Amino acid sequence: MNTRVLCIEDDQDIALAISMVLGRAGFDVVQAADGNLGLRIFHAERPDVVLLDLGLPTLDGWGVLERIRDLSDVPVMLLTAHGLEVDKVRGLSLGADDYLTKPFGNAELVARVQALLRRSRAARPEAEVYQDALVELNFGSREVRVGGDLAALTPNEFRLLAALVRHAGQTLSAEQLLEQAWNDPLHVGPERVKFAVMRLRRKLSQGDGDHMPIEAIRGFGYRYVAPPDRRQPPSNRRQGPADRRGRPAASVRSAGGREPDRNPRS
Ligand code: CA
Repeated sequence: MNTRVLCIEDDQDIALAISMVLGRAGFDVVQAADGNLGLRIFHAERPDVVLLDLGLPTLDGWGVLERIRDLSDVPVMLLTAHGLEVDKVRGLSLGADDYLTKPFGNAELVARVQALLRRSRAARPEAEVYQDALVELNFGSREVRVGGDLAALTPNEFRLLAALVRHAGQTLSAEQLLEQAWNDPLHVGPERVKFAVMRLRRKLSQGDGDHMPIEAIRGFGYRYVAPPDRRQPPSNRRQGPADRRGRPAASVRSAGGREPDRNPRS
């Protein structure tokens, strides 16, 4: 699969130029012309890199960057207007990885995107399998086992569980779950999240009646808490978030057997 680039830019000429140049360089480019649409596409497509304009309708680039950084450490390159030094400093301090000043040349655009991807891949191999004492979730094959048995989850339930375990220990609002697990978050309400979580909890409770890892946090949302693990954690696995509270509970195996050497930004 080609590397996917999400370009959030409302200037049609610039957006078109970026699509053409990166398309010719072998990237798959998805466009969004406003901030809210950009966020929805971000959660639906899970791009490998984001190019982000700052002046955008509906939600500006700062808001988009903040929302992306709440949940993801995908590399983000800001597209800034010429000479606005304060933008660059603010962007980098908010978690942008690089910036490109408009107008930019085609060769520079391609080189900077490639360099950004190289840096990010060296720092962060993709996690492929999440595992704790109850749940094993393979992000690649989309297979889920509960208590060792294959669980039949709908695609929507899979995305919901994947979003929860990716951020195990962290409370996600109904809105954040809608963005990550539904393709049309604008047309479904928070009630849908409630019922989907109910069905998912029912499927997870078949594995182990003692522990329900999905907690409802009244007024805030939902949180996945890995069950306590009575086994010795294998040494080649990374400890999940529950470990930070002093209890080995979850692991994420990384692609190629390499240990991730950097924690995701929180
Ligand atoms: Ca703009």
